Amino acid sequence: EGGVGGIVIKDDWPGYRMDLFTYPEHYSEDLECVYLPHGIIMDRTERLARNIMDDLGDHDIVVLCVLKGGYQFCADLVEYIKTLSRNSNKSLLMRVDFIRLKSYLNDQSTEHLHIVGAEDLSVLNGKNVLIVEAIVDTGKTMKALLKHVETFRPKMVKVAGLLVKRVANGVGSLPDYVGFEIPNRFVVGYALDYNEYFRDLNHICVISERGKIKYKI
Ligand code: 5GP
Repeated sequence: EGGVGGIVIKDDWPGYRMDLFTYPEHYSEDLECVYLPHGIIMDRTERLARNIMDDLGDHDIVVLCVLKGGYQFCADLVEYIKTLSRNSNKSLLMRVDFIRLKSYLNDQSTEHLHIVGAEDLSVLNGKNVLIVEAIVDTGKTMKALLKHVETFRPKMVKVAGLLVKRVANGVGSLPDYVGFEIPNRFVVGYALDYNEYFRDLNHICVISERGKIKYKI
């Protein structure tokens, strides 16, 4: 309780009406609802940063940001960790590295997981690694990534995931730090995309049927 699975969003959560918030005009017909407003994402991220500091403070860590979807969460999480580090007696030396994964086409997970920019991960050798991912769905991506990271012999590996979907046949393990546990719905915004669209949306929203058709490739 209090953290393992993060804040639990129930299956019947309808989200908030779009017109209760601001969002880019060009997406006005493309979204169903605001599922997680930007403010609560930030507040939850701030707390995750503190949990991470409590566990890893006084260590050197390598933050491994999983692109592209993880860039916003990673940037905000790192920012909160920096603030905590400045304002406390713990100082955690952070390096930030990036890895790019691609597995989705439209709203379907594909079997092929591409790891781009994986060559120079030798910096992870002997280090405490914090993998930062925006969303864990089936867990296949995380499992493959963990396996890959382990080959570089890090001292320790922790995973922070902003969103974890409740899926029936979830395979892999849960991240060590979870922002929200959400129902099995396709969400966009806060750097999460649908065919590269919606990264310029600050709330996490549910895409509408019209939006799915409009940006299908
Ligand atoms: P998994 O391997 O866990 O099934 O899939 C994880 C990856 O699929 C994530 O890193 C993300 O790129 C993508 N993904 C899964 N669910 C969603 C979703 O609801 N919205 C978006 N935009 N991407 C998702």
